[in-house]
Amino acid sequence: MTTNTQPEVNIGLVGHVDHGKTTLVQALSGEWTDQHSEEMKRGISIRLGYADATFRQCPEGEVPDAYTVEETCGDHDTETDVLRTVSFVDAPGHETLMATMLSGAAIMDGAVLVVSANEDVPQAQTEEHLMALDIIGIDNIVVAQNKIDLVDAEQARESYEQIQEFVEGTVAEDAPIVPISAGQGVNMDLLIDAVEREIPTPDRDPDADAEMLVARSFDINRPGTTWDSLLGGVLGGSLVEGELEADDDIELRPGREVDEGGQSEWQPVETTVRSLQAGGDTVETATPGGLLGVGTGLDPSITKGDALAGQVAGPPGTLPPTHEQFTMDVDLLDRIVGENAGEVEEISTGEPLMMTIGTATTVGSVTSARGGEAEVALQRPVCAREGAKIAINRRLGGRWRLIGIGTLRE
Ligand code: GDP
Ligand code: MG
Repeated sequence: MTTNTQPEVNIGLVGHVDHGKTTLVQALSGEWTDQHSEEMKRGISIRLGYADATFRQCPEGEVPDAYTVEETCGDHDTETDVLRTVSFVDAPGHETLMATMLSGAAIMDGAVLVVSANEDVPQAQTEEHLMALDIIGIDNIVVAQNKIDLVDAEQARESYEQIQEFVEGTVAEDAPIVPISAGQGVNMDLLIDAVEREIPTPDRDPDADAEMLVARSFDINRPGTTWDSLLGGVLGGSLVEGELEADDDIELRPGREVDEGGQSEWQPVETTVRSLQAGGDTVETATPGGLLGVGTGLDPSITKGDALAGQVAGPPGTLPPTHEQFTMDVDLLDRIVGENAGEVEEISTGEPLMMTIGTATTVGSVTSARGGEAEVALQRPVCAREGAKIAINRRLGGRWRLIGIGTLRE
C-alpha cells in the first residue's frame, strides 16, 4: 500500500535551546530515522538535524484522532493510510548557531516553533528564530507549546496566553498554538492536524530545471579505504525545483577556488549523479522538497567536511550567476532582537557583515552604503539569483546578530 514516500515538504523545527525540538522530531519520525543509511545518519543529523516522518491516518477513525505516525491503528491490525512524508530540518537553538539556523531556513517550506510551557515567553532564540522566519518570508507556522506534562493547568493557561501575546503582530499571529508533550507523545495527532492544515506541500513546476541547495557535503569513506573501493563525494540538501535522476550531469556553483596563473578564481565543478537517497531509500528520481543525499563522481576530498555546503547544484549552464560582490537593497530591523539589545544602526562603509543567502553563509565587507542599499565584497562568493533574500548579521557583543534583510540586485 505504500505510495510515494519521498518527502515532499521541509518543515523547520525552530525555537530556544532545550525547548524540545529534537525530542519532537524523534516523537514524530519514530522508526524512520533508523532506515536511513549510515552515511545519512552520520552526516546530515550532526549539524542541521534531519529526519523524515510519514504522517498517516487510520481509515476508520475521525480526524484529528485518526492521525498518527504508526503503520497500524490502535487495534494493531488495521493498516493506516499514508498522508504524506515530510522532512524535518532541526535547527540548533543555541545562539551561536544562528547562521546554521538561517541557512536551514532557506530550505524550510514552513516551521514548527517549539516553546516550552515551563519558561517565560519569549526566551531569546524563541524571538530571534521567529524574527528570522519573518524576514526570510516563512509564514506557514505552527506553534507547539511543549512540555505541558511539567506544568499544572493554570501554568499551562498562563504560558498559552504569553505565547498569544508574543506572536501578536508577528508572522505567527494566526498560527495555531498546540499544547503538546513531545517527551510523552501527548497530542501528536493534534500537531499533525495543525501541520497538515498550515504547512501545505508547495506547488512546484515539474518541468523546471533541477536546482538543489546544498546544506551538507561529506566523504563517506572510512579511513584506510583503498582507491579501488573509494566512494565518490556525497552532497546533502534539498531540491527546491525540478527533479534529479541517476546519471544526470550536474554543475556546482560557485565550485572551487583554483589558481589561474597566480590569480585565484572560482570555477564551477561538474560531475555526474551516481546515486540518490530520499525518504530513507535509494531512488531513481528525486523529487523536490524533502532532504536528499546525492552520491556523485566527485573526489571525496572535495566534498569532505561540508566543504561544498552553501553551493547550488543543477544541470550545467542553468544555475544562477556567481557573485564575488553584489549590491543589495537593505531593510533593517527597528531593533535588535533579544534582551536589552538596542536599535539597529545604519550600515556603514567598511564594516564586516555576515550574510546568509540560500544555504550559503559568507562574510563580506561593506564597500559602499547609502540610503537603503549596500555594496559588499565577499570573502567567499555565492551563487544566487537576482531578488534572492539575504539575512544580514552584524557582529555585536561577541556574536553575529540578525539586523535585517537584503534583496540581491543585479
Ligand atoms: P532542543 O534543544 O530544543 O532540541 O531540546 P531537546 O529535544 O534536546 O530537549 C531538551 C530536554 O527537554 C531533554 O532533556 C528532553 O528530554 C526534555 N524534553 C523535551 N520534550 C519534553 C516534554 O515534552 N516533557 C518533558 N518533561 N521533557 C521534555
Ligand atoms: Mg536539538
